[in-house]
Amino acid sequence: MVNSIFRGALIVLLAALLPSYQLFAVTTFVTIGTGGLTGVYYPTGGAIAKIVNKNRKQHGIRFTVESTDGSVFNVNAVMDGQFEFGIVQSDRQCQATRGTGEWKDAGPQKELRAVFSIYPELCTLLVAVDANINSLIDLKGKRVNLGNQGSGHLGNSMDVLNSIGLDPVTELTAFYINPVEAPKLLQDGKLDAFFYTVGHPSVALKEAISGGKRVKFIPLQNGAIDEMVGSRPYYSKMKIPIRYYPGIQNTRDVDTFGVCATLVTSAKVPDNVVYVVTRAIFENLEAFKELHPAYAMTTRESMLTCLSAPIHPGAMKYYRETGLK
Ligand code: GLU
Repeated sequence: MVNSIFRGALIVLLAALLPSYQLFAVTTFVTIGTGGLTGVYYPTGGAIAKIVNKNRKQHGIRFTVESTDGSVFNVNAVMDGQFEFGIVQSDRQCQATRGTGEWKDAGPQKELRAVFSIYPELCTLLVAVDANINSLIDLKGKRVNLGNQGSGHLGNSMDVLNSIGLDPVTELTAFYINPVEAPKLLQDGKLDAFFYTVGHPSVALKEAISGGKRVKFIPLQNGAIDEMVGSRPYYSKMKIPIRYYPGIQNTRDVDTFGVCATLVTSAKVPDNVVYVVTRAIFENLEAFKELHPAYAMTTRESMLTCLSAPIHPGAMKYYRETGLK
């Protein structure tokens, strides 16, 4: 008892003696879970880290970026406390919040919190021209990468196959590999097609296009898919801009559907940490947008769309202060 009073008094005394800037010298390290190295989540984690870390001497927060399996992994890692932040598809955010899809057994992820949306992600199907796939139904009998476990895109490719009634187990040779590896397999003739839900442009798609084998995007819109997209609150119709991919066989932007890439955290992450991150990105939005072309259409308003988990109070504080909410 006496001992702890003595220790308390010593801390008070030390704090009084320290110059005030040294009180902030303690750095809080936070980690953001992203995706594969050739996707857009990984550079986005880097872009957030760059903006936040610039003022780390003032706020004491330092971001580090981890490459991961993707959205589903990130939600679970943020819930487990492995990471403070994660980038996740808005459809996965919605399912985790409601306890559906991947979280049907685990139930609603009650501590999942939204911070903001970042950019659109498009469900993308790329095929080798010599595989003779001209529409979705031609995937029958082909070698198709649906996506790795833990990714967000695996669920999207399954939604596509289900809506057109193609069984991934009996009607095609399904691969479940990381999109980092898919482009090379496609170019090497070991894969006919791959799905990837990703922002554009992405390095993975550029890699897949830059080999000797010609490739093209297959549109993901037709009666059955449109019906499926219309019945899900988190999907909307989008177009893949082909200007980013010189050498692609398509001659027009490609109709598909997509979601938003969003930043999430946990209710357990302190308000001041989330506040600092939110404020840093919103106050430096123009500098942030220069870091990747996928953010071209991002605005302060768009950053508050696509969110289904409750907004973290630290982010909400900033939105209220600035009249955004
Ligand atoms: N949308 C993908 C996922 O959730 C990741 C895309 C990326 O890394 O840019 O797994």
